[in-house]
Amino acid sequence: MEDVDCVVVGAGVVGLAIARALALPGREVLILEAEGAIGTGTSSRNSEVIHAGIYYPAGSLMAKLCVTGKQQLYRYCTERGLPHRNCGKLIVATSPQELEVLPAIAARAAANGVGDLRQISADEALNLEPALSATGALLSPSTGIIDSHALMTSLLGDAESAGALVAFRSPILAGRVTEAGIEIEVGGEAPMRLRARTLVNAAGHGAPALARSLAGMPQDQVPQAYFAKGSYFSMTGRTPFSRLIYPVPVKGGLGIHLTLDLAGQARFGPDVEWVDGLDYEVDPARAESFYRGIRRYYPGLPDGSLIPAYSGIRPKIVPPEIASQDFVIQGLETHGVPGLINLFGIESPGLTACLAIGDHVRDLATISGR
Ligand SMILES: Cc1cc2nc3c(=O)[nH]c(=O)nc-3n(C[C@H](O)[C@H](O)[C@H](O)COP(=O)(O)OP(=O)(O)OC[C@H]3O[C@@H](n4cnc5c(N)ncnc54)[C@H](O)[C@@H]3O)c2cc1C
Repeated sequence: MEDVDCVVVGAGVVGLAIARALALPGREVLILEAEGAIGTGTSSRNSEVIHAGIYYPAGSLMAKLCVTGKQQLYRYCTERGLPHRNCGKLIVATSPQELEVLPAIAARAAANGVGDLRQISADEALNLEPALSATGALLSPSTGIIDSHALMTSLLGDAESAGALVAFRSPILAGRVTEAGIEIEVGGEAPMRLRARTLVNAAGHGAPALARSLAGMPQDQVPQAYFAKGSYFSMTGRTPFSRLIYPVPVKGGLGIHLTLDLAGQARFGPDVEWVDGLDYEVDPARAESFYRGIRRYYPGLPDGSLIPAYSGIRPKIVPPEIASQDFVIQGLETHGVPGLINLFGIESPGLTACLAIGDHVRDLATISGR
């Protein structure tokens, strides 16, 4: 059995950021990924938005890691010349009732340290985005977009330059906690057994199952996995918008919003559909509710302009009746297992927060170590 200092399970944006954060100060790091490439899971099935940190409850891990992570991410993208744009976003009210909700959203943002949100009138909103229909809006200047694949390639490059190794097609099948470390069985084409001093479970949807398969991990600390699918439709033709456009949030998601890719192409989504597993097919029939939702703030959306695009599935750890969840990052102080760090429920804003999550896990690994 080979001994490794740190094993990071999962080469999504979060696993890669953690591997980088552990490798830069000199720790030995091996990344194990079940698939044949980086970022084939949720990390390539999202909106690629750099979130400001507006909606999360004050003091939550999501709020803290999003706001810190956003600043780190803008700095990192600028330093490395990674494709991104600080395009800003509007949260649009389309009725007097929704207008009343905007101050509460702005107050929550301010409590999270996002002090730059500004409420604007319908006229101001129309001046910025003439195709809108609005009764008022919040302008979020620090929201942006990013090329998530360029980011992941860069994170892996940093980790590898600092000595980290990545093994693809290497799923972790099971493991057990021992006095000397966490022993794991790696399947795939080259099965092996390893003993890690620190094991970071950043397996996304696979994180609860992996934690459950570790003998010695308290089972009552492992949440149940739930899946909330979000489908996207792309818009044919030129979009009239230059900022991201969000409706007032709905239960379980942010509402069907408009995001832009770096080429300026618009896509709409994600919606919310609770499902039983990882089925990424987009049902064209969902277009109906997209047209209805979008036309509340963009009445000029042409008929026939929406094309099924792709979907992502939120790694939920609470059932549908619970409105929100926080990131769960467990170390020694939570589950009592030295050297083990589990990440559960890393849904949005996990992409924005990845560098801050990396630092958080690096620090936790120091105090959770053996
Ligand atoms: C619809 C949607 C929209 C989103 N939009 C945004 C957004 O605009 N902005 C934002 O900040 N965030 C967004 N997010 C959140 C963001 O995409 C995620 O937080 C982030 O991608 C999670 O990365 P990850 O590395 O934890 O997971 P993943 O990318 O899922 O990576 C986990 C990896 O672990 C591997 N794995 C699983 N089990 C095993 C095993 N046993 N052994 C080895 N490997 C294993 C998988 O193959 C996978 O590659 C969105 C999420 C969704 C679902």
